[in-house]
Amino acid sequence: MLIDFHTHTSASDGTLDPIELVARAVANKLELLAITDHDTVAGYEAAAAYHTLNSGDMRLIPGIELSCQWSGVTIHILGLGIDCHHPSMRHGLHTMANARRERGLKIASRLESRGFEGALAGALAQAGASQLGRPHFAAWMVEQGHVKDHNEAFKRFLGQGKTGDVQAFWPQLEEVTEWIVSSGGIAVIAHPLKYRFTGMKLRRLITAFVAAGGEGIEVRSGQQTPDQTAQVLRLAKEYELEVSVGSDFHRDAPYLPPVGVESSPFEGLKGVWQRWSV
Ligand code: MN
Ligand code: MN
Ligand code: MN
Repeated sequence: MLIDFHTHTSASDGTLDPIELVARAVANKLELLAITDHDTVAGYEAAAAYHTLNSGDMRLIPGIELSCQWSGVTIHILGLGIDCHHPSMRHGLHTMANARRERGLKIASRLESRGFEGALAGALAQAGASQLGRPHFAAWMVEQGHVKDHNEAFKRFLGQGKTGDVQAFWPQLEEVTEWIVSSGGIAVIAHPLKYRFTGMKLRRLITAFVAAGGEGIEVRSGQQTPDQTAQVLRLAKEYELEVSVGSDFHRDAPYLPPVGVESSPFEGLKGVWQRWSV
């Protein structure tokens, strides 16, 4: 069975709009799709309105990818099956929108003090109705000819350790996990190996996450080696977590995975997909 519990649309930093993403997933013959944009459910809501009118066999699941802080590091937590209208989630979305706005202002003022005049207005124009993020600053820099492409913008100005790398505004891990759980969803640690933690630190993260009400971990995120998948599977087993899989789809590229992950290698485990499978 093809499923995908981690995808992005143009409501955050993906290139396909919500309807295009749903159409793609249906064309790829997925049975379950969760849209998990960064800190917004706008993409899911647009897709859901379309999908009810064009329902195939695929089931669309509300989701989100929330940024948070733990031990001074930015961690991503997926919320799957959330009630987007629950007061806890509304409060969470409002908090994240404020955090993103403050972060955007800080990135802009740091870039502007380095000579990038008009960075804020430019990035806001790029963002349109989407949540303001670093890709919008990158797009503005490309448009202005400051850099030749998105990669150069991140490499020189926006990536880790650079002028525009501002992360201090996210709420704590415990808080975002609580929003997800109290709005009826399951919280899942996204791409656990992407943080490059030692085994010991990863265990500390999982312990804190479980104490906060978290129940799931992404055992397969995008492209991984079999060794990496095995490593996360051992942790899932040790902490009795439900397992999730996703492409973390953002855009079409020859070196990036398509929408849809085969669930059969994970049969016999407690998959989050069992919550929605018929
Ligand atoms: Mn992203
Ligand atoms: Mn992420
Ligand atoms: Mn993601």
